[in-house]
Parts: sequence; C-alpha cells; structure tokens
Amino acid sequence: MAQSLHELFIEELRDMYDAEKRLTKALPKLAKAATSDALRTAFTEHARETEGQVGRLEQVFRAIGEPARGKKCDGIMGIIEESNTAMQELDGAVLDAALIAGAQKAEHYEIASYGTLAYFAELLGHEDAKDLLGETLDEEKAADEKLNTIAMSKVNRQALMSGGDESEDEGEGTGFFASGARRAASAMGMAHDRSSSSRSGSRSAGGSRSRSSSRTSSSSRSGSSRSSGRSRTSSKKR
Ligand code: ZN
Ligand code: FE
Ligand code: FE
Repeated sequence: MAQSLHELFIEELRDMYDAEKRLTKALPKLAKAATSDALRTAFTEHARETEGQVGRLEQVFRAIGEPARGKKCDGIMGIIEESNTAMQELDGAVLDAALIAGAQKAEHYEIASYGTLAYFAELLGHEDAKDLLGETLDEEKAADEKLNTIAMSKVNRQALMSGGDESEDEGEGTGFFASGARRAASAMGMAHDRSSSSRSGSRSAGGSRSRSSSRTSSSSRSGSSRSSGRSRTSSKKR
C-alpha cells in the first residue's frame, strides 16, 4: 500500500504499464474483428502507438530510477473483457459500434490515468517524467477524438440501418443523424457523451447537447441553434 505520493505515483505507473501491455495484445484483435475499414485502420495504428507508449513508460521508470514493473490493471482488464463479450455476441455494424464504445472507455481510462500521472510527476519535480507522460496523454486524447470521428461519420448510422427499423419522428435536416446515432447507441445500452474529451467546455453538463453541437460544427452550419434545441427535446423523450 502506497504511503506517500511518490509511492502512489509508482503504483499508478505500474498499473498503466500493465494496462498498455494488455492493450498491445487486445488492439490487434479488435482490428481483426472490425468491419469498417476506417475502424480497422484506427485500431491498427493505435496498436502501434501503444507499443511506443510501453516504451515511453519504461523511459519514465528509468527517469525516476525505478525498475519497470507492471501490476495487474483490473480496470483495463474489465474493459477488454467487455469487448471480448461483444465480439462473441455481436457482428457487423453493431459490433463496430460496440467496439468503438469499448475502445473509448479504454481511452478515457487512460486519459484519466495519464492526466493524474503527469500531474503527480509535476508535483514531485520529475520534469522528464512529466513531459513523457504528457506526450502519451496527448496521443490518447487524439485516439479518442479519432474514434469520435469514425463513430459520428459512419459507424453508428450503419448500425442503425442494419438494426431494427424504428420510425423516425424528426427525420429532417441535421437532426436526423444526431438522433439516429443516439438511438443506435441507446438501443445497445451505451448512450455516451461522444464529445466528452473534445475542446468544448460543456462536458457533462450538457451531454447530448454538446455532442449535437460539436457534430453540427463539423458539417453544415445552417440551423445549428435550432438543431441543438431540438435534440435537447428529443433526448428528453428518450
Ligand atoms: Zn518520485
Ligand atoms: Fe495507451
Ligand atoms: Fe490508448
């Protein structure tokens, strides 16, 4: 049990060292299972990036004069286990949507961990460690954004098309896709704030609204205020 911030820092480093090693093995399996080319490419690229992150953690251990050792990371093990279940139970576009949801849970776990680690390193005066951890933090944020883009551009819509055929109540204009994607996600019990790590400051305060506005900003601007107002309404209905 960690008795000091320094010991806690090392414990958390070991947690991530184990997590990253597990992810280097899991990501190629996710890539193999993905249907969408964009998703498969994203998983393959992040697998390579993750190998670099293992090496970067070894540099951190070296920088603070500790042996590079892992300690079973229950959090990432659980998230990987959920993806394994999805791969057994789902296929096609719905599996892709589930794989994205699982991968984003992993990225958010990593973002929280590396944010904490970089801050601990700063508090403890380990400048080199702080910079290295910050580099990985940026990579994890970029990976999460990439998954957002894939989810919002195609994958969830295809999951919607391939799944049940609920009638659209508000199918006009930009609102169609926003509500469609959310419905595909909620149909699988994984409605999730897809923009939680984007630059917008609105975070959890307005989950579906900030998702809708970030999506709107990347495509047509017309009627953006109307669209965000309406999707707030439809999210209430859900
Ligand atoms: Zn230290
Ligand atoms: Fe990572
Ligand atoms: Fe990652």
